[in-house]
Amino acid sequence: MTETEAYRFLLVDDDEDDFVLMRSYVQQMRYAHQLDWVGTYDEALKWMIQGGHDLYLVDYHLGAKNGVELLQAARERGCRGPVMILTGQDQTGFDGDALDAGAADYLEKAHITPNLLERAARYAIHQQQDHNTLEDLYKKVSRLEKLKTDMIRLAAHDLRTPLTTINGYVDMLKQDLQAQVDPPPIAYLDEIKGAVQDMQKLVRDILSLQRIEAISGGYTTPVDLKALVKMVFNQYKVKSSQRFMLTTPIAPVQVYGAEQELREVLDNLLSNAVKYTPPEGHIVVQLAVDAAYALFAVEDDGYGIPEDKQAQLFDPFYRAKTRETRKIDGTGLGLHLVKSIIERHNGHVHFKSTYGKGSTFGFMLPIMSEKND
Ligand code: ADP
Repeated sequence: MTETEAYRFLLVDDDEDDFVLMRSYVQQMRYAHQLDWVGTYDEALKWMIQGGHDLYLVDYHLGAKNGVELLQAARERGCRGPVMILTGQDQTGFDGDALDAGAADYLEKAHITPNLLERAARYAIHQQQDHNTLEDLYKKVSRLEKLKTDMIRLAAHDLRTPLTTINGYVDMLKQDLQAQVDPPPIAYLDEIKGAVQDMQKLVRDILSLQRIEAISGGYTTPVDLKALVKMVFNQYKVKSSQRFMLTTPIAPVQVYGAEQELREVLDNLLSNAVKYTPPEGHIVVQLAVDAAYALFAVEDDGYGIPEDKQAQLFDPFYRAKTRETRKIDGTGLGLHLVKSIIERHNGHVHFKSTYGKGSTFGFMLPIMSEKND
């Protein structure tokens, strides 16, 4: 709507004198606006739902009901037009309710002038248009977001079964060929198996993300983070060539959480340290506690990450490729998953990295305090 367009107002007021007064204000306004009038709640509701007016001027007093109730009822039934509540001199204290219900403004009748009404109307109409545009956009984005989420979940689910099948048959083929073909083409089969395993990890990560995004409440199960750290640490120590070191507090470290998710966090951080550190490197894992938090960190003296690639590390599918790490397999989902899980547990992640020197990735999680237990 442009500055010069005429508006169509609807006045909702059970007092005809007020209508006559308001009509005289509207006639004195700069442009030839139109003022329609209804005197009852029910009639007003009908008009507001129909939505043929640019602005609704609603008296607070409407017989047994009030203007805020009318506004709420109209909004619930899809009215998206701007509404201004008109009040008498002594009516205060409902302004919060009016704004919460979606009123653009409220005006004290005794202070209305043609100028004030024109300005307030124009402002309310523009504001409501902006609001409606944003609301439409939000709905559209939410619909698309849901569609995307459903598609990803479906795709990931549907990929899981054929991948398991391929994996199983590759194992069988490997056994058969070992006995029958000389030399057996094991290297090719191992390549296929490696590729399948990468895809399985991608599917697992995507499904974990979906699951985590769907969780809304807090965690109430105690988890011993120290036991979990020791278990994951030992798994990696046994199968990796780097030198490993672990420090933990003597006592258990209890946090509220989901054990499987926290295990995924540790798993991702340790597997990254192993992947991005040369075989002769060092990996130091530390768990500590302060008054309120469990503090976990994995430090490596591996390839490190160039500074200009650090800002996006936790974005989904982002991989900070360098000369040294270009050929290393990965999905770019691990750190995103770590951050999502830790933040769901009311914690924070942190990292520091120097290209060519190494990296430290860690998190802090609130510990179960004695008074909360
Ligand atoms: P990926 O599957 O690629 O390992 P992540 O989300 O776990 O995905 O990590 C994102 C990127 O962060 C990696 O591709 C890598 O470039 C970098 N990165 C993560 N951990 C380390 C580390 N310990 N040392 C060096 N680079 C790391």
